[in-house]
Amino acid sequence: MSNDFDLIRQYPWLPSLKIYRSDLASINPIEFIKDIITDPSKEVLWDRIYEFFKSAFDNLEYFSYYKIDDLNIYFYLSLRMLLIILNNKSISYRVANLYSKITYNELATENDSNLYSICKDLKLDIKYEQEPIIFRKIAIKDQLETLQTKFKIHFSDYLKLSSRLKDDFRKLINNALKDGYVYLRPKSLSRLIQEYVRMKILKFEGDIENINKLKEDLLKVQEFKDLYDSIIADWELKKERFEYSFETAFKKGEDISKNFPTCMNEILVKAEIGQNLQHTERLIIVFFLLALNCPKEFIINIFSKQPDYDENKTTYQVEFAKKKGYVPHACSTIKSLNLCMAQKHNDKLCLDGYFSKKNNKQKKISHPLFYVQFKQYHSAKLKNKDKIQEKND
Ligand code: SF4
Repeated sequence: MSNDFDLIRQYPWLPSLKIYRSDLASINPIEFIKDIITDPSKEVLWDRIYEFFKSAFDNLEYFSYYKIDDLNIYFYLSLRMLLIILNNKSISYRVANLYSKITYNELATENDSNLYSICKDLKLDIKYEQEPIIFRKIAIKDQLETLQTKFKIHFSDYLKLSSRLKDDFRKLINNALKDGYVYLRPKSLSRLIQEYVRMKILKFEGDIENINKLKEDLLKVQEFKDLYDSIIADWELKKERFEYSFETAFKKGEDISKNFPTCMNEILVKAEIGQNLQHTERLIIVFFLLALNCPKEFIINIFSKQPDYDENKTTYQVEFAKKKGYVPHACSTIKSLNLCMAQKHNDKLCLDGYFSKKNNKQKKISHPLFYVQFKQYHSAKLKNKDKIQEKND
């Protein structure tokens, strides 16, 4: 079992942070930021925060620079402070999703003792049995699986934590309940805590006047202002790309794959021949097709030749992604994952870009959705030209 401070260092959103770091709890935000800037040991923090925002904007589910070190508490508090002054719901959702996902991954590796301490810190009414309790038997493909756990949580706390999770299997009625307590396996418990963390990050305290004043004061600190400006600049750039997703639509009966960039067609071809797709390839193609409003069945069918295909699981995952409205991956992310196929297929549009009349300059393709839009726009223009030509002949 970790000592309590180790847990706080790892999970700085725990309420007892106030007890273990009362110095930070009572510090004025300006002093807090100045302390970071003047301490050379905290020099890397700004980079870590900036990279985190970038990963959140790219809709990633992992953050390679995440570290559980002495800066972790500062990292968490600085993130929250930035979200408050950024005061932008879209940014907050992305940051909260990524941070809570990282938390879930951490919790998933925890031992029972630490998980229990975390729940106690959150003031949850949780009980831990010495021996595992079998609470359900389910049949999966002719095999009987026994579900067992040592954890049970009071139903009122269960409802509080699960109220925003819409999956049917999380409804109280679909869970094993005895004497007012719901039996939960550590994985499900971690998922509930993940949601707690997500909501905590999204929670805004304070009135707008105070927030504006805080922002004004914080932005007087040049290093902090530089970080703030970089985040805003990156967001503006990304926002421009996100907009494509809402303008491009899948039309029934129309084969739009001819307008897909090679990165997407490569994944589709691999799926078609039954080659096992990496997890990231699956996410990339699903988010991309959902943004084009492709029917759910069409997307599910793409995975039907995968060696691990399970229709129910795939349906659930596609529906979940649709509900969450994940933003499709930009070219920069696809390139960083070595999944850009522009060179391999010598795609001129991807390699050379296009001439933007609006900006009067050559521009690079920065998002696969824009690629589709561009192709659609040009084929529509060609069709119109042909029609005019026909009329004139
Ligand atoms: S440049 Fe972008 S759209 Fe083109 S293949 Fe690479 S990742 Fe895909």
